[in-house]
Amino acid sequence: MKSSKNYEVIIIGGSYAGLSAALALGRSLRHVLIIDSGMRCNRQTPHAHNFLTQDGEAPGAIAEKARQEVLKYETLEWIDDLAVSGSKTENGFVISTQQGAEFNSQKLLFASGIKDIMPEIPGFAACWGISVVHCPYCHGYEFRNQRTAILANGPRAFHLASLVSNLSKEVSILTMGKANFSETERERLNRQHIEIIEEKLAEIVHENGHVKYLSFKDGGEKTFGAVYAAPEFVQSSDIPVALGCELTEPGFLKVNNMQATTVPGVYACGDNSGMLRSIANAVYSGNLAGAVLNKELTEEQF
Ligand SMILES: Cc1cc2nc3c(=O)[nH]c(=O)nc-3n(C[C@H](O)[C@H](O)[C@H](O)COP(=O)(O)OP(=O)(O)OC[C@H]3O[C@@H](n4cnc5c(N)ncnc54)[C@H](O)[C@@H]3O)c2cc1C
Repeated sequence: MKSSKNYEVIIIGGSYAGLSAALALGRSLRHVLIIDSGMRCNRQTPHAHNFLTQDGEAPGAIAEKARQEVLKYETLEWIDDLAVSGSKTENGFVISTQQGAEFNSQKLLFASGIKDIMPEIPGFAACWGISVVHCPYCHGYEFRNQRTAILANGPRAFHLASLVSNLSKEVSILTMGKANFSETERERLNRQHIEIIEEKLAEIVHENGHVKYLSFKDGGEKTFGAVYAAPEFVQSSDIPVALGCELTEPGFLKVNNMQATTVPGVYACGDNSGMLRSIANAVYSGNLAGAVLNKELTEEQF
């Protein structure tokens, strides 16, 4: 299946960031194709929080409501597919998909998110987004006053511990090996009665994703209600890098304050290009990218 249709913009990723950009572009009568593979990063989470008007709603319900709202605009098209490669053409770009389609566009917007790499700790993946969480703003209130573990070391662990200490008075940092804190950091953690456990974790014992207790390699066990973790991640799509887009040191797509990547005509928004990982930020950056793309197309055509 090949398409001769030339879109003004192809958006890769039809979750919160991509749909937010599509809304701005659809309302400007731009011809846009959204390609989405249906793998939102929060798909295992029962409730999303900290997003105004939708606090506590299921993440899938928010995405579906957004999709229905956005696809009312007649110049927007959607396909369920995976974009597998992309290259530059004389007038823009061509994107190929897993189902064998090929689509052309003048501009590209990557709203493709990031892929969390689950550590090889039994129970971790099953609890991810349910009781093993990434962010106190999204899930901290629900676990307030519960015994809480922070699975991290160094500055990341210190930062999370400082935020979580306002939500629970029983906080332990699990460093999975030698703790890496300065003397001052240790003093401040001690002052807050935050325990540091260096013993390696053997398993997160859970029931349907809800942590019951943690078991350690030395045979010890400890009960916790919640675990914070910051797993390693990779870009969900490797097309931007193949096109020449630069990454930042932590692995995000490098964008300027207008969501433009380092390759002309290629934009990025949402989790793939920003450290502030929230639906609100994905919607914000998508909205900005949509407006900037429309402005760029206008300047080229007007
Ligand atoms: C477990 C968990 C729980 C969270 N809970 C909350 C919460 O309660 N509140 C909150 O505000 N935030 C929460 N977040 C953060 C929030 O989910 C993300 O910030 C947000 O989903 C980012 O939106 P996005 O559109 O950038 O990426 P995503 O929502 O991850 O969507 C990316 C989309 O791109 C598609 N895609 C990727 N590559 C391709 C390709 N090559 N071709 C086609 N499609 C592609 C994917 O299938 C997916 O649909 C949570 C995150 C996680 C991981």
